Amino acid sequence: MSEIDFSGKGVLITGGASGIGRASADVFAARGAAVAVSDIDKDKTRAVARELGNQHVAAPGDVADETSVVELVATAKAGLGTIDVLINCAGVSDSFAPTLDQTVGHWQRIIDINLTGTYLTCRAVAPDMLDRREGSIVNISSIAGLFGLPYRNAYVASKHGVAGVTKNLAAEWGQRGVRVNAVAPGYIKTPMVQNLIDAGRVDETRIRRRTPMGRLGTPEDVANLMMYLSSPLAAYVNGVVIPVDGGWSSYGAAGDAAEVD
Ligand code: NAD
Repeated sequence: MSEIDFSGKGVLITGGASGIGRASADVFAARGAAVAVSDIDKDKTRAVARELGNQHVAAPGDVADETSVVELVATAKAGLGTIDVLINCAGVSDSFAPTLDQTVGHWQRIIDINLTGTYLTCRAVAPDMLDRREGSIVNISSIAGLFGLPYRNAYVASKHGVAGVTKNLAAEWGQRGVRVNAVAPGYIKTPMVQNLIDAGRVDETRIRRRTPMGRLGTPEDVANLMMYLSSPLAAYVNGVVIPVDGGWSSYGAAGDAAEVD
C-alpha cells in the first residue's frame, strides 16, 4: 500500500491509547499523517502521542460526554490544523451476564460510549469537513453489529447502531464530500479481548476453530482496512460496513470452520 500517503493530513483517533486505535495511530503516522491521539485515559493518551513523535498531539477526552467531545475535537484541530480523517475506535465490551441479571445502568453506559460516542464525534468533526467538502470517517462496528451474540445485549445493540449511523451519515453527507464507512472486526487480539480470554469469557481455541482462517486477527489487520477506507483509493466507497474477521461472517456450515491444535 505504498501509494497511500497521508502527508499533510490530520487524523483524529479515538480510543487511540490501546488496541486497534493504538495500531491505527502507528499505521497512519507511518504514512505521513499527523495524528491526534484521543482516549479517556489521559496518561496513556499523552504517552502514545509522545511515542509517535513531535508532529503528533494528545487530545484526551470521554466520547460519551458531549462537552468533552467538543473540547477534544478543538484540541485536535488546534494541534493538527485540520481534521481530515476521523477514526472512531473508543469502545467497551459487555459483561456477559444473563439478560435478566443485567442492569439498565450497565446497558446505558455501553450504549453511551459505543453508540452515542460515535454519533457525537462524527457530529463534532463534520462541520469543518462539510465546509471543505472533504473528509473521511471510519467507525468501528463488529461482527456483533451483524449477528446476535447471547448475553451481550448492549454491545450487540450498540454495534448494530454504529452500522446504522454509518449508513445514515454516508447518505446525508456523501454528496457534500464526506465519506462515512465502518469496519466490522471479528475477534482481534487486543487488551479488550485478552481480558475476556483471561476472565474465561471467551475461549480462544473455539474462536480459532470457528474462524475459517484459523486465527484471531491482529490490531494491524483492522488498522490497515481503516487506512484504506480513509484513503483516496476508496474515493467511491461510502456507507459500507466491511467485515475484517478472517472469514467468520462468511461461514454458515455446522461445526468447525478450521482445524486447529
Ligand atoms: P481496547 O480496550 O484495547 O481499546 C479501547 C480504548 O477505548 C481504550 O484505550 C479505552 O481507554 C478507550 N475508551 C473506553 N471508553 C472510552 C470513552 N468513554 N472515551 C474515550 N475512550 C474510551 O479495545 P479494542 O479491542 O482495541 O477495541 C477498539 C474498538 O474496536 C471498540 O469499539 C471495540 O468494541 C471494537 N471491536 C473490537 C474487537 C476485538 O476483537 N478486539 C472486535 C470488534 C470490535
